[in-house]
This record gives sequence, structure tokens and C-alpha cells, in this order.
Amino acid sequence: MLYRVIDTDELSSLIRGFMDDYEFIAPVKADRGYVFEVVDDPSKVELDYVTTITSPKKYFLPSEEVLMRYSAEENEITDYSVDIKPRVIFGVHPCDINALNRLDLVYKDAPYPDPYYIKRRENTLIIGMSCMPGPNCFCNLFGTDEARMGADMFMQKIGDKYIISLSSVEASSTLERYCNPQRATDEDRKEFRRATREREAAFNKDIPHVQEIAMMMDVFHRDEFWTELGNRCQSCSACASVCPTCFCFDIFDRLDPDGKNGSRIRSWDACTSPEFALVAGGHNFRGDNRRRVRHRFYHKLNGFTGSHDYQLCVGCGRCVTACKANINPIEVLKFFDRKGAEQDGE
Ligand code: SF4
Ligand code: SF4
Repeated sequence: MLYRVIDTDELSSLIRGFMDDYEFIAPVKADRGYVFEVVDDPSKVELDYVTTITSPKKYFLPSEEVLMRYSAEENEITDYSVDIKPRVIFGVHPCDINALNRLDLVYKDAPYPDPYYIKRRENTLIIGMSCMPGPNCFCNLFGTDEARMGADMFMQKIGDKYIISLSSVEASSTLERYCNPQRATDEDRKEFRRATREREAAFNKDIPHVQEIAMMMDVFHRDEFWTELGNRCQSCSACASVCPTCFCFDIFDRLDPDGKNGSRIRSWDACTSPEFALVAGGHNFRGDNRRRVRHRFYHKLNGFTGSHDYQLCVGCGRCVTACKANINPIEVLKFFDRKGAEQDGE
């Protein structure tokens, strides 16, 4: 990996460079927080944010997309193309880069790769940006507070400079053309280390690290805790909507009003939805909120680890804000931390 340093006042030139060459997506300030959206004015880019309401996932898995058009009369597919402009997503935090790496395991490096996802991934540069944690961030507990892979360029602010790690030719070439990058000095490296330590120290220490969470979940699978969470859950699926790693979808056909043509559509689905596990014949494999909420947390903190060796939660904290019933991974971690302490006291 190459390391370079630029002055902070070169940032707008770098942004302008990416804007000239690519469709440019970055965090901007909206009514109720920060959101990623297409931007054409560098002054609108807001890099000093803790988290965005939703993640860049929507640029790879849109909440609803047409997979193909078909002729119902001829029983033939008429179009299945994905038209993606080369684009840059700028200012992505490490948790969201790690979330995309998790999605890759499901949609790209999987037995049935998804051509729509892959095309978007191949046409998108990810420019990462260091951050300071807010009170609901716990990526440090899951090793997702650093993005060792998955970004074409990663920028860490050190005083009045950025130290930049480069992983792709395209990102390097834009940096070279629009800025005056220098080699990192020993002093820059020391500053980098100091900034990293400062970030580590800023995480909320009230959120417990439960190393053996997956095993604990197996032991307490029938605990009343899940009933209590299920009783509170409103089945709104806000948690899944904001989550950067929730990847479930539904597929349905929508016939045009003329009845001759139609679209096959993929849309986000959520395991907290009552219909999610409903099958033909009327049986529901997760027929109550207790089972659905429990399943959500098992998939995030237990099941995905078994199949892919990574937890599916990256500790971004978005669902902590989104769930108005206060059901979130921090509550789950605290519960298992208490259970562990009770057992230790026995
Ligand atoms: S856990 Fe919270 S956000 Fe998720 S469906 Fe239940 S009430 Fe809604
Ligand atoms: S479960 Fe919550 S904290 Fe974990 S990645 Fe999803 S939204 Fe973020």
C-alpha cells in the first residue's frame, strides 16, 4: 500500500477532481441528520459527521430495483441491463467500508454472484475517511473501526494534513493530478499514531465487550429476555432499513396497466417483518415478535460468524437511534455481559 500526505486546503481540489471524472456521492447535511447523496458543489460536502442516517449500501442494493422487463404476451425477457456511471463515494467511515466487505461475501464472493451488485461495485471507487466515535458507536468492539481493505483510498486527518493510504490506480491517479501529494515523514506517522490513539480513547466505555457472545447466545436461546424484547418490538423494520449489512430482499412481478409487459422487482425485506417467514399454506416459521427479534440478533452476532467468520453487525449504531423501542445490539451486549457476570459469581 502507498502512503501519501496532502495539506487540508487541497481537499476541495481533490473533491473537484473526482467530481470532474466521476458521479460524486458524499455526505451532506439534511433536515434530520447527514445523508449520502449525489453532490455537484464541493462546498456542500460535510465530512465532519459522526454517522449518516442510512449507509452507502443503497448505492449497491437499491431499496427497490427492476431486475428485468418482460413481455407477458411473448413470455420473454426484453431487458435486464444495469446502467451504472463510474462513480465515487467519498467520505465513507470504516464501519461502512467493513459493511460493504460483508455484503461482498454474500453478493460477490459467493456461490451465486449477483451481477447487479457486482456491476455497481466494479464501477464505484470508495474513498474512506477517518472519524471520531459518537456515544452509540461500538465498531471498536467488532474490529470494524479500521478499514484494512475495501477502500480505494483512505484519508486520516492529522492536524492540518491528511495522511492517505492508496489501494487503487484510479484513486492514485486523481490524487496525483489534482493535488501535490508528498511522501509521509516519520513525524506524519507519529501524528497518525496519536490520532488513532485519540480515537480509540473516545469510544463509549459503557458498551461492554462480550468476547464469547455467539456461544452465550446459544446457551440463552430460550431466555425470557427475548420475550421481553419481542413484546416491545413494533415490527416497523426501521432497524433493518438503516442497517448497512442487512441484505435480505423480496422479489415480485408488477404487470404494466396494459397487461402486456411487466417488471420483475427486487426490494428490501426484513426479518422483523411478520410476513418474512410466512410460506405457502399459511405457516409462519417465525410467527411472533420474540422469534423475529431473536433471529435478527442471532444472524448479526452468531449465525453469520458461523458461516463467514465475521460478525454481521459492524457496530455503526444506526439502529440504536432508529429503534424507538430501544431494541438494539448494545442492549443485547449489556444483557449478555450481566449474564456472564452472574455466572462468574456462581
Ligand atoms: S427492533 Fe425496533 S426498529 Fe426493529 S422492527 Fe422492532 S421496533 Fe422496529
Ligand atoms: S445491527 Fe445496528 S449497529 Fe449493527 S450494523 Fe446494523 S444498524 Fe449498525
